[in-house]
Amino acid sequence: MFEKITGNIYIHPAETYTDRPNIGLIVGEKYSLLFDAGNSVYHVENLKNELREQGLREPDFVVISHWHWDHSYGADAWKKTVIAGEKTNEYLKKMTSWKWDDRSMQERLESGEDIEFCHHMVKREYPDRSIITVKTADIVFSDTLTIDLGGVTAELSHIAGPHSEDSIVCFVPEDEFLFLGDSNSKDLLNNKWHFDIEHEELLEDEISKIPYDKVLVEEYISRLENIPFDKCIGGHMDIMDRDGLYKMVRE
Ligand SMILES: [Zn+2]
Repeated sequence: MFEKITGNIYIHPAETYTDRPNIGLIVGEKYSLLFDAGNSVYHVENLKNELREQGLREPDFVVISHWHWDHSYGADAWKKTVIAGEKTNEYLKKMTSWKWDDRSMQERLESGEDIEFCHHMVKREYPDRSIITVKTADIVFSDTLTIDLGGVTAELSHIAGPHSEDSIVCFVPEDEFLFLGDSNSKDLLNNKWHFDIEHEELLEDEISKIPYDKVLVEEYISRLENIPFDKCIGGHMDIMDRDGLYKMVRE
């Protein structure tokens, strides 16, 4: 269910079983915008049903926060205008040629292109992986992009940060709210760690051992200082205030 959290914003909560992230919906008088596409056609069908049941219209724009599968693979299923940052789109282009048979997946795992966690989560989310379609963006921006939705604004900006160099955030000034995507999270792709699908209870503990890159964190915070948000939300976390966010990334 989409929960209304401020005057113009709804959030559909993250689901851990197949690593589905929080999905934000910003509803304006003219347009509505979804921040993050979802991880699959199944996820998107579920979101569409919930929108219909709640009497909310489907988004006009779908924004991808960064290239990771759980945030981007639902994009094609919306059949709407998809927006992404330039760097994200480069990664998306690359992934359009990925194959999803067992052997190709195993090869990416061995080459370090993919990690155990995503490998298993993709398999679990997609009973039929032949339907995976990676869509590149219809609108691409390099630094910032502002969209007037009618009475409410979405300000997209490239922020980078400790999680992935392509990360963008979405600020909604009227609601003083910031969508972080995963930008505040650790880099799960370029640090060594182990995920065992048979022992998912160890996941949090494993992630807690991964260090934050301190230099990237301070650069990230200095960029966040220019954004006058009150509350924010990460891709797989609860709503936080600024102090909570800074404390988290500085550990
Ligand atoms: Zn991510």
